[in-house]
Amino acid sequence: MGQQIPNFATVEDVIADLAPGYPIYCLRPAELKRQAEFFLDAFPGRVMYAVKCNPHLTVLRALYEAGIRHFDTASLAEIAHVREHFPQADCYFMHPVKARASIMTAHQVYAVDHFVIDHEKELAKIIDVTGGGDGRVVLVRIVTPVHDAQYQLSDKFGIAAEDAAELLRKVHEADFQTGVAFHVGSQCRTPQAFVDGIETALGVIEAAGVPVHYLDVGGGFPAVYQDDYPPALSVYLYAIQEAFDRARLRKDCVLMCEPGRALVASGCSLLTQIQLRKDDKLYINDGIYQSLSETLLGKVKLPARLINPKREIATECRDFTIFGPTCDNLDILPAPFCLPVDAEEGDWIEIGQTGAYSNSAATRFNGFFPETFVSVDAPPLMPG
Ligand SMILES: *Cc1c(COP(=O)(O)O)cnc(C)c1O
Repeated sequence: MGQQIPNFATVEDVIADLAPGYPIYCLRPAELKRQAEFFLDAFPGRVMYAVKCNPHLTVLRALYEAGIRHFDTASLAEIAHVREHFPQADCYFMHPVKARASIMTAHQVYAVDHFVIDHEKELAKIIDVTGGGDGRVVLVRIVTPVHDAQYQLSDKFGIAAEDAAELLRKVHEADFQTGVAFHVGSQCRTPQAFVDGIETALGVIEAAGVPVHYLDVGGGFPAVYQDDYPPALSVYLYAIQEAFDRARLRKDCVLMCEPGRALVASGCSLLTQIQLRKDDKLYINDGIYQSLSETLLGKVKLPARLINPKREIATECRDFTIFGPTCDNLDILPAPFCLPVDAEEGDWIEIGQTGAYSNSAATRFNGFFPETFVSVDAPPLMPG
């Protein structure tokens, strides 16, 4: 299948071969598979991958090979991308606000039959475009209690629990299969957030008094970052399993989740190069407008190591402020990197845990756009 990317044993081998002056995404297919297999094995329901987190074909392929068959997609482009490459996979249209043309094409061309809404006008739109229920699925996305998450998605999406029952009833009356969905927020550090979410969903389901076929606990499962060690994923999945079992929903109610970050963050590192050093400032070739926007928007701290196979590197480290490549003064990483004191122009910095919201969020601002991908066999660069 097309678009094979070059494979290397280690990141050092990438440098030896390419001596890159441009950033390179070093994907770890084995790590991606390992994370996917963990979720598929430990989650007591259906696992969807949230494609927006990292849509690169090598990433999707690794997840698919591990057994992921369900994809949480938010745009027609994502749906087309998944369905063209993996005709056997299912796409779920999980954006609560959709263009009519996207609903129609998703439905007619790509056989998408799961949609999310958080407002009755969106339900009317789906009925208009698809002709109504007929066994298709509409999930109502609800707001759930706020916990310690880095991004609060309920600021933008979700219907208040007290209004959700009526919307769920309307979905049922329009002859759709029904579901309730939520998203506790990305990089969520408390398993209890999912338990509260499930309990909120149950309240809605009871108030609605209609059969519910899907309960979707969303994404938000955390990755491990520098100075950010949330509870293990198994703790989250166990808490969800317990809450779901307690809920005693219909036997045919399918539990679903939509992890993005937790599946792919560790599956890529970013190889950058120092273009100039000024005292404690390092100017590198990637920044907040390319692969590293989360360091600013999500205050995410990433592990980093200095590499230069051509010289002996100092063992003593110090903090450096990292400047991105654009001419924009926002393009400075908020947290310093602790790197060897003799870091210099031409050295490489490998930045770990960059599989999530890196390439997928990169812009072409100022002409700096990383688009080189390789795969690497060596284990991922983890936080120290
Ligand atoms: C972004 C998103 C996800 C993935 O969230 P993570 O925090 O990366 O797990 C899941 N579902 C929906 C609807 C999303 O928008």
